[in-house]
Amino acid sequence: MGEQVLAAVRTGAGTTELREYAVPDIPDDGALLEVEVAGICGTDVKMYAHPVVPGPVIMGHENVGVIAKAGRTFLERQGLVEGDRVFVEHYVPCRRCEWCHLGEYRHCEATDWRNNQDARRYGYTSADNEYHLWGGFAEYMYLPWNAVLHKVPEGVTAELAGLATPMSNGIEWALFDGGVGYASTVLIQGPGQQGLSQTVACKQAGASLIIVTGTTRDAARLELARALGADHVIDVQTEDPLERVLAITGGRGVDVVLDCTAGAGVAPVLLGIDALKRRGGTLLIQGELASFPDFPLKKLTEKGITMRSARGHSYRACELALAQLASGRFPLERLLTHGYNLHDVDLAVRTIAGETGEDAIHVSVLPQT
Ligand SMILES: [Zn+2]
Ligand SMILES: [Zn+2]
Repeated sequence: MGEQVLAAVRTGAGTTELREYAVPDIPDDGALLEVEVAGICGTDVKMYAHPVVPGPVIMGHENVGVIAKAGRTFLERQGLVEGDRVFVEHYVPCRRCEWCHLGEYRHCEATDWRNNQDARRYGYTSADNEYHLWGGFAEYMYLPWNAVLHKVPEGVTAELAGLATPMSNGIEWALFDGGVGYASTVLIQGPGQQGLSQTVACKQAGASLIIVTGTTRDAARLELARALGADHVIDVQTEDPLERVLAITGGRGVDVVLDCTAGAGVAPVLLGIDALKRRGGTLLIQGELASFPDFPLKKLTEKGITMRSARGHSYRACELALAQLASGRFPLERLLTHGYNLHDVDLAVRTIAGETGEDAIHVSVLPQT
């Protein structure tokens, strides 16, 4: 470890600067993580274009690395030794509040950047705060006593472990929120890393029918969706998706619809409501739109639809995600399409945003390369 830590810092909207920070003195209950992989997702694209937290921010909230240096109390509390490879959740919870005691620390106010200006969350927290290294787009990241860590199973590479976040979201949203299980029928909209991870979660859980939608430029991704367990894929630009879903299900519709699209407006929600079965289906949504004109509320209530919001992942979902990755049962390594070093963080975000014209599914920043 040198004396300086190189970091790619977001200094304004759409602007990244390389900066060096002194290696912080860590307390007995803290540690430094040597960042091996920081995954990028659609949230990074939004936060890069429209920063939510003022000041310099080291982005990178899907982080995997090795415990490089740690205090004795930290290792004792976390049950780790130096050299262990861990997946770091981006939540940094208080561990005192009601949510934390329930194990639902993702809802803790101490990590809620929307409502708490002093919140700690990897990839969101200002680098002006003590210890500075609060994001994965850096050679090292600071881990306080309350960081939430998962030991990466033997045989899982750092890059593969970088898929723990989309995979854990897949398990959380499809299985825990959507209730997908044995013989469920599912429509997954969007074949990006999130939709593909949901496909794997649904297949593993025993879904009897998995339909994945995409656009014409998603052809390769839709093929990958098939390789990961989709029974049918639909190009929404050349086919009528509702007609296809009804034809495939013999007019019944599906039990669960998962929206994993980006920038598709109201269309996925409208299709979801129509594609769900006559009564009692579940629709998982992501709140991209500030408002929804002419929302078909009557249809929603008449069909008895349960609407769930996607809200990150729980501890158990992360553990199951890592076990899934370790099993090697699905060719998830095919999601790993692009890797960049710290000098190319701006390009990495623009690549996942689709600005470079490349078909990037999962983009990793690899700070040690
Ligand atoms: Zn993410
Ligand atoms: Zn808490």
